[in-house]
Amino acid sequence: MSISRKWSAKQQRSLEILIRLKRLYPEATCTLNYETPVQLLVATILSAQCTDERVNQVTPGLFRQFPDAVAIASADIEVLETLVRSTGFYRNKAKNIQGACRMIVKEYGGQVPKQMDKLLKLPGVARKTANVVLAHAYGINQGVTVDTHVKRLSQRLGLTKHKDPIRIERDLMGLLPQQDWENWSIRLIYHGRAICKARKPDCDACVLADLCASADLAEKTTTTTQSWKTNATVPASD
Ligand code: SF4
Repeated sequence: MSISRKWSAKQQRSLEILIRLKRLYPEATCTLNYETPVQLLVATILSAQCTDERVNQVTPGLFRQFPDAVAIASADIEVLETLVRSTGFYRNKAKNIQGACRMIVKEYGGQVPKQMDKLLKLPGVARKTANVVLAHAYGINQGVTVDTHVKRLSQRLGLTKHKDPIRIERDLMGLLPQQDWENWSIRLIYHGRAICKARKPDCDACVLADLCASADLAEKTTTTTQSWKTNATVPASD
């Protein structure tokens, strides 16, 4: 099969995967709680290596004391550290959310910018965080959010061979129309949490099994634990 025919077969398969995931998770949306773009940015920075559930336990207290960029920018760093402590890596996260808010106040009048290049200059913000903020705060599909679930599922489904999130994102952006980029990643995240778990994918219960390059993974998991470990990605953190 020529490369272009192979690619278009992959695009068709991706569309079918998306159709099924939309049916399965019709209401899928960002599970972080927030009221403003700044709060979403802060919550997303806090969600690194942490569950959304845990972040949602921390942010009500944080946003009660420091509801916007101005308040976070001038907060006592030790108070911030204490408030975000249970999300892990709290010193770094407190430093980043304060650094990002200071830049937002100084350069963007207290509003989170809507441009990818500007977002990427904020401390603690890489493409994953920027994509989440653009998609969910502003409705802008600028890229595909590649978190640990999207990375793992894209690899298992045979849609990318890459390990680097930037390259994975580039592959996925070529497979689906731009308006579906966030639809895609948010539903892969739901499916990764519910069915295609890092340690134990439930392939028997999976609606994507006939489209998946790793559909017998669950079986292999029980028979050849060692080889599975070699192929597995980092266990889900959220
Ligand atoms: S068939 Fe198995 S490996 Fe493939 S997406 Fe479903 S649960 Fe994951």
